[in-house]
Amino acid sequence: MSAKKVDRPYFRSQVLRLAATNYFPALDEGVKELVDSLIRVSHGDGERAQQIIDEALRSSPTCPTPATFEAISSELGPRANSPRGCEHCEGTGMRYVPKRCERTTLDGDGKPYVYESYVADCQERCDCELGRFLKAKDKEAAAARKGPEREANPLTTALGKERRAK
Ligand SMILES: [Zn+2]
Repeated sequence: MSAKKVDRPYFRSQVLRLAATNYFPALDEGVKELVDSLIRVSHGDGERAQQIIDEALRSSPTCPTPATFEAISSELGPRANSPRGCEHCEGTGMRYVPKRCERTTLDGDGKPYVYESYVADCQERCDCELGRFLKAKDKEAAAARKGPEREANPLTTALGKERRAK
């Protein structure tokens, strides 16, 4: 496991290294898009994110797009330190599990009742080493996405205030 602190500001700092390239986004929205994409493509793995940016800087004078991140990541191949899957998930880290699902509706008195119950094949992370590894990455990526950088949209905030004042 990497000892590096991997939260949203970390991924943002990696993206900001691209300021050395041509056509780096002038708008903050563009930078945010790159940060989101880098988190997604690297599965919240800080070292992987750094490798992707290293490669982007090495391979082209032009600022990469989210699509470039995808391409670089598949070129780099599977992460060297990621564990292998098992026979249950066929090496993918994802397995199918039957889950009982219920559809509910309201009866005449407004009380909820189950009118249909069925079993669906749902996907979840496997229990094997790879599944647990990916689950931890999911959590890191989710935490990174919720980072402090995501500020409120000033327009909708103003509208909300106006509405509340009425
Ligand atoms: Zn497995």
